[in-house]
Amino acid sequence: MKKVVKFGGSSLASAEEFAKEGAIIQADKDRKYVVPPAPGKRDSKDTKVTDMLYNAYALAEKGKNFDKELKAIKSRYQEIIDGLKLDLSLDKEFKKVKENFEAKAGSDYAASRGEYLNGIIMAEYLGYDFIDAAEVIFFDKKGNFMPEKTDEVLRDRLKGCERAVIPGFYGAKVDGTIMTFSRGGSDITGSIVAKAVKADVYENWTDVSGVLVADPRVIENPKGIETITYRELRELSYMGFSVLHEDAIFPVRTSG
Ligand code: ASP
Repeated sequence: MKKVVKFGGSSLASAEEFAKEGAIIQADKDRKYVVPPAPGKRDSKDTKVTDMLYNAYALAEKGKNFDKELKAIKSRYQEIIDGLKLDLSLDKEFKKVKENFEAKAGSDYAASRGEYLNGIIMAEYLGYDFIDAAEVIFFDKKGNFMPEKTDEVLRDRLKGCERAVIPGFYGAKVDGTIMTFSRGGSDITGSIVAKAVKADVYENWTDVSGVLVADPRVIENPKGIETITYRELRELSYMGFSVLHEDAIFPVRTSG
């Protein structure tokens, strides 16, 4: 049995949350491939790391100083590393990020570092292999996702990996330029990985328990929907229910 697991950003926002998700993964030996997003909000007033990265990069693009902003991002990761008591330094990675921001590597590159860095931490914490999504998820020159090439490369690469962490949300064009999916796109990566490894189950963990008949922020204790078709799920996400990204349905629907 093979399972692909994807978590929501708020589930990986702090060391405490990380440890909880680690326990979920380790509770089932079939959870072999893990797709983490960037750290989300720790509380309602917090800022997602992805948004912090977009903001820092906007300054870099204007040629302004972004040291303070980058330092705040680094401290989000350091807090997780320290909380998990890992012997891991992201100094080298942050040096590279700074250089690439200065070289104006693009806002997609900037945003993608959120999942890239979180993936490195997750892999270290779990003792899984780390696979940079830029090497296995592809977009064409115009920025369209390339399903066949991705499936082929990803399948081959994961064949040799018993357990791996593949960061969500981004991939690369054939020339190596980093590109992201639209916001919330880690759901899509999870689905693509599930298809490539022919997973038995794609688990998408989020902060609501299942698909509910109404928005729990509006209606108290709505019932859960036990069974739903791919089509209904896609329709709901397309119409704006925020449990799953609308483009995350297609890869798993075709492969059941
Ligand atoms: N980190 C990205 C975002 O905030 C992607 C994701 O969370 O799935 O949209």
